[in-house]
Amino acid sequence: MLVDSHAHIDTPRFDDDREAVIQRAVAEGITRIVDPGCDLPSSQAALALAKAHPGTVFAGVGVHPHDATTYNEIVAAQLRELAQEPEVVAIGEFGLDYFRMLSPRDVQRAVFCAHLELARELHLPCIIHVRDSHEDVIELLRSHGQGLRGVFHCFSGTVAQAEECLSFEGFMLSFAGPLTKQGNELPDVARMVPLERVLVETDSPYLVPKPLKARRNEPLFVRHTAEKLAEIRGLSLEEVTTITTANAVRLFGL
Ligand SMILES: [Zn+2]
Repeated sequence: MLVDSHAHIDTPRFDDDREAVIQRAVAEGITRIVDPGCDLPSSQAALALAKAHPGTVFAGVGVHPHDATTYNEIVAAQLRELAQEPEVVAIGEFGLDYFRMLSPRDVQRAVFCAHLELARELHLPCIIHVRDSHEDVIELLRSHGQGLRGVFHCFSGTVAQAEECLSFEGFMLSFAGPLTKQGNELPDVARMVPLERVLVETDSPYLVPKPLKARRNEPLFVRHTAEKLAEIRGLSLEEVTTITTANAVRLFGL
């Protein structure tokens, strides 16, 4: 039984067939899905979905760096309230994204730190998005994230960056579809990451794994990333399933 540790199945791209998407994942053994919110409305939607699918869908609540300018005191208060619901298993996704830079850097940094504080207050793990922002994420975790736990979701960096991320003891690395593609250092990262600190995810509806030609990713496809991880580590799919599921259960308390 695999866990898709990161899938945005609350988003409109699943409006036509959301229930069928969840059902076919479960039928194929992807029995648990973590859906992280990206702003207040999607955090509410993720929670509603989790309440409708107890034990199968779990929610994260947070504001994505793209939407960091939507964060304010009212949003913060509502997120804090949502985060205390039993179906909420993480704060996130939040992070820093300097690739698209849809919110100013100083706003992203302030919102990042606010999420760390909320995670600390509520003893929840963090789901962290990093894009072209590794140095700032590391700096802010060093100054504001001591003792926290969580995951660097859809890890896309180098081996050296992975080593820095793993220096935070409570954190794991999660692989998504890019692990199945050429032209990155991810196979080397997948070889060095301790097995008790690795997760798999789809980041649906984005990042369809190879060799699939689907236009939309969905939790069912997490198996392709798990198979690639198994191949790289010389393990069976069963072993990778057991390991990554145990890690997700431990991190998120599923
Ligand atoms: Zn995401």
